[in-house]
Amino acid sequence: MTNKDLANLIFPDIDLTIEDLEKKYPKRDLKEGAKVTRIAPSPTGFMHIGNFMQLVIDYVMAKNSGGVFMLRIEDTDQARLVDGAIDVIYNTLDQYGLIADEYEKDGKIVGNYGPYVQSERKELYHVFLKHLIEIGRAYPCFCSKEETDAVAEIQKKEGLRTGYYGRYAKCRNLSIDEAYEKIKNGEEYVIRFKSSGNFNKKFKFDDAKFGTIELPENDEDIVIMKASTKLPTYHFAHVVDDYLMKTTHVVRGEEWLSSVPKHIDMFNAFGFKPPKYVHTSLILKKDGDSVRKISKRKDPEALMTFYVEKGYPSKAVIDSVMTIANSNYEEWRTGHPDNPFTDFEFSPKKISKSGAFFDMDKLDNISKNIISRMNKDELYEELYKWAETYDKEFAKLVKENKDYTISILNIEREQKKPRKDYVCYSDVKEKVWYMFDELYENHEKVYEFQNIKDEKEIDSIVNTYFDKYYDENDDKETWFEKIKDLSEEFGYAREVKEYKENPEKYKGHVGDVSTVIRVRVTTRSMTPDLYEILRILGKERILKRLG
Ligand code: GLU
Repeated sequence: MTNKDLANLIFPDIDLTIEDLEKKYPKRDLKEGAKVTRIAPSPTGFMHIGNFMQLVIDYVMAKNSGGVFMLRIEDTDQARLVDGAIDVIYNTLDQYGLIADEYEKDGKIVGNYGPYVQSERKELYHVFLKHLIEIGRAYPCFCSKEETDAVAEIQKKEGLRTGYYGRYAKCRNLSIDEAYEKIKNGEEYVIRFKSSGNFNKKFKFDDAKFGTIELPENDEDIVIMKASTKLPTYHFAHVVDDYLMKTTHVVRGEEWLSSVPKHIDMFNAFGFKPPKYVHTSLILKKDGDSVRKISKRKDPEALMTFYVEKGYPSKAVIDSVMTIANSNYEEWRTGHPDNPFTDFEFSPKKISKSGAFFDMDKLDNISKNIISRMNKDELYEELYKWAETYDKEFAKLVKENKDYTISILNIEREQKKPRKDYVCYSDVKEKVWYMFDELYENHEKVYEFQNIKDEKEIDSIVNTYFDKYYDENDDKETWFEKIKDLSEEFGYAREVKEYKENPEKYKGHVGDVSTVIRVRVTTRSMTPDLYEILRILGKERILKRLG
């Protein structure tokens, strides 16, 4: 019996060779320096902000360099598949406008290096597995989970590294004949990679982010094909897929750094050049005085659905993530507020090495700025799109009152220093409810009167104003003159300055009077421009409201 016999026994139907596949998946015709990247999520049912950061980095590196960005679904862990989980991945890419150049959706493959769903690539993996068995670099292992667990227990007790290596790699020493017999007898097996390294020796490895680091050689005979599904494990699929798809840069979480020796050992066994690796830091958050990993159980902001539900503009989320991904992004953005983020020249070396802080206050600030810079129609469209899914009642209202809503959104907008009222779209309703009778009627009203609190005084100021002074056709200057006239009539100073010079002469000043009108109409003491608010509401609506 030879290795070839064993390989034929395990994979009787595989006739293709690696060379055949190399013809089918040739070198990509791209310009020098073009980067080929991929996001390779497992369909877990959610997209973590850490994955999202990798996605953004993949995207920007491919776009920067005239390369290719792929989406590959890593669903080899069939036991953990969740219904609808793949849609979560596609939706996230869609929602953020990070569309892959190559992907597969609803059975349709876009790109020449597919399939892009791992469970559909079984035959490809088997070609590579067969080859490794033929050259004696992989072997079937018949150890049960109970056996390997028991070995791990002993290793732990003895203070040793756990794993299938050295003298613990029992099936490594089976003869080909023994292995052949066992398979013939229907014994269950996995396939393990035959490692070639010595754990006590180190090798140098270049990570695009960390720079040169030293790692121990791989001596672990890891599982590369599972028993039940005959699908590969992550490690093996990574090597095969990224080789065939011609990935130049693998951007993935720092948790994979310790697996690099295994991956390099496998690339070497095939004689393939490994891709460049970019291992991204964990996303951290400040929690009181301490710092910890952002957690999907504790922190709603750890999952990408949070930002969509809240209605953060996708640009704001991408900018926040880019800010933590590359230390010079923020400065670049300040100088280029309107450029697409892909214009930024991304450098993996500038990814923080010690962990990336995600700061919600910063996101809020970025988002406020972005929303303030939108024009009125753009904001209306974005708001409506968001509300259609997340606040249907509000969506109906703004749709039925489109022009009215646009004028509200336009208050102190489309000017040099626009107002920064809205952090996200879910914020808008709580900032403008008093403009809509439908919302005003049912809203809890806490009148935020300030210096003037006497009800009688308030009533007479407001009644006099609307009876005698307010004219919808006044321009802003005239309007303000009239508020001054009103102030004077009631014994308040026309100017704040006058009041400050002679406080005993007046009951207060023009600001106190305008505040009374503002609060009486909106309940709020702080609002955008009162002139605009009154003009948009219209006298009729105001008078009805005042009763
Ligand atoms: N499916 C792996 C994960 O979700 C991908 C890691 C990689 O990008 O290689 O962590």
